[in-house]
Amino acid sequence: MRHFAIIGSGPAGYYTAEAAQKAFGDEVRIDVFDRLPVPYGLIRTGVAPDHQSIKAVSRRFEKAALSDNVRFVGNVTIGEDVTIAELQELYDAVILATGAPRDRALGIPGEDLDNVFGSAAFVGWYNGHPEFAALAPDLSGNTAVVIGMGNVALDVARILAKAPAEFAGSDIVAHAREALAESRLQKIVILGRRGPHQIMMTPKELGELGELERAAPHVAAADLPAPEEDAILEPGLRKSVSHLRAFAATPEHIRAEKPVEIEFAFMSSPKALIGKDKVESIEIEKTELVRGRAEGTGETETIRADLVIACIGYRTSPIPGVPFDERAGRFANDEGRILPGLYCVGWARRGPSGTIGTNRPDGYATIEHIVEDIAAGVLGRATRRGGVGFDALAAERGLDVVSFNDWKKIEEAEEKAAREGAPREKFVDVEAMIRARG
Ligand code: NAP
Repeated sequence: MRHFAIIGSGPAGYYTAEAAQKAFGDEVRIDVFDRLPVPYGLIRTGVAPDHQSIKAVSRRFEKAALSDNVRFVGNVTIGEDVTIAELQELYDAVILATGAPRDRALGIPGEDLDNVFGSAAFVGWYNGHPEFAALAPDLSGNTAVVIGMGNVALDVARILAKAPAEFAGSDIVAHAREALAESRLQKIVILGRRGPHQIMMTPKELGELGELERAAPHVAAADLPAPEEDAILEPGLRKSVSHLRAFAATPEHIRAEKPVEIEFAFMSSPKALIGKDKVESIEIEKTELVRGRAEGTGETETIRADLVIACIGYRTSPIPGVPFDERAGRFANDEGRILPGLYCVGWARRGPSGTIGTNRPDGYATIEHIVEDIAAGVLGRATRRGGVGFDALAAERGLDVVSFNDWKKIEEAEEKAAREGAPREKFVDVEAMIRARG
């Protein structure tokens, strides 16, 4: 019997558990750890609350979670409650699927001003991540600036722009729903340091901006390259750019029917955030493309910014004893191998890119490596104690482990508390989650 510990119960973690079940059948026992008492990581706290169809993948993960050889071990922080070295004593393979839950810094003056957030924090706030539930962004100003032109920037801009009725059927948490209903924002600027042909936004998600009840996207026609230049783009990006063209073609009097404007500002690199205590404006430098990279032109301007959300990518949290690649912001690894018996997968392996589905081949490839390493004798003989050993350690330390059965009770309570038409009302603090398991 082989014993695997997977750290992180998001998509990377559960796809890897599924791959291990397929490869080893009844010859493996898998413990899936999470620092929260609730599973699914990014699916629960990253995917936008108004994108419920994407969240449905959790049903597939539940199938893995409910099988006899997989356990959910919630409310345990690896690196604090238990060390990596201790896990390596107990399990044949330890697989880090911890994602990239930290914001990358902009590295410009003023980043610490009030009402400046990274997307991990802001998305965590509206999705009820216990770490960010108390963020309390001030939405009473006129203008929000969203930095970055990826899908996270789109999520954030859309959530800021939506009218209360547009959250029907979503699982946005009460504190965010209430704050957004009171929002006074009239302008949301999406700031990109490169041009329309360099956006990282996918067509379906970008198209949604054109269908909002009270907000209209605006692209200046002069910012767009000549239409024939779109021919060289790959089809997905070409489709996205066609949305930008449609936004640019919308007459002003039609846009003016909606009270909130979503403005695309291209070729604009953030230089400084300005304000006394709270951010008031942002200094940007106009850029030009030099071999695909944004280079400053020296021309600067300052635009109003009452709220700033930087959606510029994420970093993995380091774990004591695990080699870390500081520059890349993830574990140092060679195709998922960190050290003998220690692996990583998903965003913790390759950085924060790709869709949820990208983690599936990632998980399967990692399990392939483990199969090879077992054959090569790297993991030694199958003598480790696995979950039984962990349970003894947890009892000795007085850890309050949350099981999958406990989670099902928490889930039931969340579903019971849902407002009409919504799938659930999430608990936003760890104590409430633990109380709900009964
Ligand atoms: P992303 O796609 O890599 O986009 C990051 C954006 O930030 C880029 O526009 C980038 O510009 C910009 N940026 C980076 N550093 C910057 C700086 N210092 N100053 C100004 N701009 C900067 O990342 P993401 O939006 O965080 O998304 C992460 C992954 O999750 C992506 O693969 C995304 O597709 C996926 N996702 C998918 C969905 C969905 O399918 N619905 C939803 C959310 C996220 P440059 O290009 O110039 O570097």
